Amino acid sequence: MREKFLPFSIPTIGEEEINEVVDSLKSGWITTGPKVKRFEEAFKAYVGAPYAVPLASATAGLHLAILALSLKPGDEVITTPMTFAATVSMIVQGGGTPILADIEPGTLNVDVKAMRAKITPRTRALIPVHFAGQPCDMDEIFALAREFNLTVIEDAAHAVGTEYKGARIGSLDSISIFSFHPIKNITTGEGGMVVTRDERLAEEISLMKFHGMNREAWKRYEASGTPNYDIMMPGFKYNMMDLQAALGLHQLEKLDRFIEMRTIIANLYNEAFAEVPEIVTPKEVPYEHRHAWHLYTPLVKIEDLTIDRDAFMAQLKGENIGTGLHFKAIHHHPYYRDLLKIQPGELPNADYASERILSLPLFPLMTLEDAKDVVAAVKTVIARNRR
Ligand SMILES: *Cc1c(COP(=O)(O)O)cnc(C)c1O
Repeated sequence: MREKFLPFSIPTIGEEEINEVVDSLKSGWITTGPKVKRFEEAFKAYVGAPYAVPLASATAGLHLAILALSLKPGDEVITTPMTFAATVSMIVQGGGTPILADIEPGTLNVDVKAMRAKITPRTRALIPVHFAGQPCDMDEIFALAREFNLTVIEDAAHAVGTEYKGARIGSLDSISIFSFHPIKNITTGEGGMVVTRDERLAEEISLMKFHGMNREAWKRYEASGTPNYDIMMPGFKYNMMDLQAALGLHQLEKLDRFIEMRTIIANLYNEAFAEVPEIVTPKEVPYEHRHAWHLYTPLVKIEDLTIDRDAFMAQLKGENIGTGLHFKAIHHHPYYRDLLKIQPGELPNADYASERILSLPLFPLMTLEDAKDVVAAVKTVIARNRR
């Protein structure tokens, strides 16, 4: 057994990030300011989009993007049950009714045919989630959106650096929302970014993100600024700080290298688990793409074992291997079980995955030896509990 506990994820913070944060602390400017502006510009350039709004989190971005839809009571937004609660909770907070469409069994991305089957006259928007960093079939989703005149909001929390048919996620004709939470592919501590090609939408979200002030507040305190301001709407406090952007500026420069390192580990897992019948490895999407490998999420065939998934994770912890759970399906949470009243058998692929999925350690600082320890521990737990 491994001597030292291997966590499921650790952020990769280098001297560059540390020095940049110290520079901000010494500069007298720690909240939204020039570094946020620089990070916004660098992020736009990286994904290839004309407008970006840096925010306190991806949840804030989802909230504002959904509020911009101006939903009326009863309006429906279709998304996947295989996501973090924020995706669905922000539909509720935005005044909409969340509708869950089942996932594809292999990639665990939302099934576009299932989305189509859920469309009604009340449907206003589609929110695909690029699960684990693999792109959804955006051509199909855009075709569906055109046919029924729907807005597409991409939950791109897993997809910083993901590419779909040669295009970066963020560059497509939609609204994309990225997360920089510490377990995501790059981090600003907490943080998020909304990216769009729609100038009017970017302005609306910018206004909502900071009290509804009619211009970038930080400029008020510059030599050229004036202290007066106008409130144009009752806004939120969702701005990103320079302290956060200080991290993001250097993380973004390292992103492609991070993805290469994640890919090496994921490939090692895929090869090692190909010969373990109790482990179902994640399937690749059938079109050209770059997987950002935010997560490595195999399914454990609990029907072949005497223990359930939670006990499987507990036993891996006993072997000094940390795991994550991404995700228990949305409709298995008490609030959404009561709200959505999903019938048994309505989302069979999500139910199946929800009870078997776990996230194995995957982060750039991991060594190949660490990954081999994970494989060995998984095999040990399987051998101990085989039916
Ligand atoms: C992490 C995550 C979010 C929320 O991101 P935050 O930046 O923590 O608000 C939203 N959707 C998905 C799919 C996520 O994994």
